[in-house]
Amino acid sequence: MTRQRVCVLGSTGSIGVNTLDVLARHPERYEVVALSAMSRVDELLAQCLTWQPRFAVMPQREAASQLRERLREAGSRTEVLDGAAALAEIAAHPDVDTVMAAIVGAAGLAPAIAAARAGKRLLLANKEAIVVGGALFMHAVEEGGATLLPIDSEHSAIFQCLPEDRTTWRDRIDHIVLTASGGPFRSRDPKTLADVTPDQACAHPNWVMGRKISVDSATMMNKALEVIEARWLFDLAPEQIRVLIHPQSIIHSMVVCRDQSVLAQLGTPDMRVPIAYGLSFPERITSGASRLDLLTTPSLTFEEADAVRFPGLHLSWQALRAPEGSTTVLNAANEVAVDAFLNGRLRFDRIHALNAHCLGAIAPTAADRASIDGLLALDARVRELAQRQVAAWT
Ligand code: NAD
Ligand code: MG
Repeated sequence: MTRQRVCVLGSTGSIGVNTLDVLARHPERYEVVALSAMSRVDELLAQCLTWQPRFAVMPQREAASQLRERLREAGSRTEVLDGAAALAEIAAHPDVDTVMAAIVGAAGLAPAIAAARAGKRLLLANKEAIVVGGALFMHAVEEGGATLLPIDSEHSAIFQCLPEDRTTWRDRIDHIVLTASGGPFRSRDPKTLADVTPDQACAHPNWVMGRKISVDSATMMNKALEVIEARWLFDLAPEQIRVLIHPQSIIHSMVVCRDQSVLAQLGTPDMRVPIAYGLSFPERITSGASRLDLLTTPSLTFEEADAVRFPGLHLSWQALRAPEGSTTVLNAANEVAVDAFLNGRLRFDRIHALNAHCLGAIAPTAADRASIDGLLALDARVRELAQRQVAAWT
């Protein structure tokens, strides 16, 4: 069997580390050819020494030169690339078959698009990329002949409930139900949300994740982004996407078919399951996840998401019904809001206020949505407005 040559973008993050864990279980199937990280030189160095990839990418020149120097001292032959364009270059490299897109935020859009255009097997964890790129992202996948495999657990669940032939999906699906854990504040008094600290927001009950997605889970903006992600991945109308809170995170999402048959995917909450499926599709490989024991599992419960506690959730449908490009606006506002919250510059309850403000204040133009560069320029405009608003509130 020829080994799949894998590039992991964001290899030092939560998804990146889980991906390497799955890859380590199957050395006969996979070879790591490239790793990348933003700033953690020590972690990337250790990964390079273990995996000996051909390439390591750090967009920042200073971090890259530190890594280069330390790899040289250790006698490693890994070549270090730097600069903003290096991520896209490596994602489209002819010696790469599979790209795990696990960068956080819109920063991952350009490399994900590059992988799509180059026809790679594209494992998409980076949901912000598809939220920003929308139709243009899907177009790049189609044009490049890429195989797009969802890694977000909900979307992997939906994907696992559907047949391989995508052309049958439209006629088959009545609607989908994305499940949400409800995060750490599912039953906290909404009046106290102004006092939430970053560490409280990042203490997720069921999943250990990066800080940005953890805050998104606490506001339920994560689910809002996932609604938008599902719209593009499965070509659904906004009203075909529903959200239910399911605190145990055992059912990862459901497809309700035209005949009202409901298909669900279950398992212990472990990201290695969707990662393993993305790597091995249409086959199955071991993932390292523990077995789901239904006899010792607490009962599975469901509730409606409370619109007072989680006002951000509904911005997804609002943005999807607004002119195209509005989901780019929502994402950019939210990235600024979360960053400001994590750095103590914005109150937790103002994350939603900022998102709603930007969505209302900036209307995307035809030029914005004509190209990826247009969307990125729109993203930059929103960030400017959002930063000014954050400053006005402090
Ligand atoms: P993380 O913060 O743990 O890791 C992010 C990775 O991206 C790191 O390796 C970091 O070095 C790199 N990175 C950050 N900013 C960058 C930039 N500007 N340019 C290049 N590289 C950059 O995040 P995570 O939790 O692993 O999440 C990654 C993506 O996967 C996010 O889009 C998230 O929404 C999605 N996701 C994560 C989980 C999860 O369980 N963690 C589940 C579903 C989806
Ligand atoms: Mg998810």
